[in-house]
Amino acid sequence: MSDLPLPPDLERLQTIRAWIDQQRSRQATIGTFLDVIATAVDDALSAAKPAGPPDGYRIQKTRLPEGKAVLHRGDCWISDGATISRDDALLALADDVTSGNLEMCQACRPEDTLEP
Ligand SMILES: [Zn+2]
Repeated sequence: MSDLPLPPDLERLQTIRAWIDQQRSRQATIGTFLDVIATAVDDALSAAKPAGPPDGYRIQKTRLPEGKAVLHRGDCWISDGATISRDDALLALADDVTSGNLEMCQACRPEDTLEP
C-alpha cells in the first residue's frame, strides 16, 4: 500500500483512476502535437538562411514626454516610424544612444546588424 492519502471507497477511487487515465491521454496528445511541430521546425531549420542586415531601420518616436525613442530593424513586426538608412541608424547610435535618447528594440535587436 502507498502512503498517499487516498479515499477508502470504491466510487472516489474509480473517479481518481479515471482522472489519471484522462490526464495520461491528454499528455500523450500534447506529446504527439509537439512531435509534429518539432518535425516542421526541423524542416524549416534545415532550409533557413541567416537573415542578414535589413534593408533599413526605423525610429519609433516616444508617446510619453519622459519616454525614449526606439530603434528597430526595418523588418521588425513593430511597424511604427519612418524608414531610415543604415548610415542614419549608425549616426543615431553614435549620437542619440550615447546621449540617452534612444533605446534598442528588444524584439528585433537592431544593434546586432549595426556592429562594424
Ligand atoms: Zn523592433
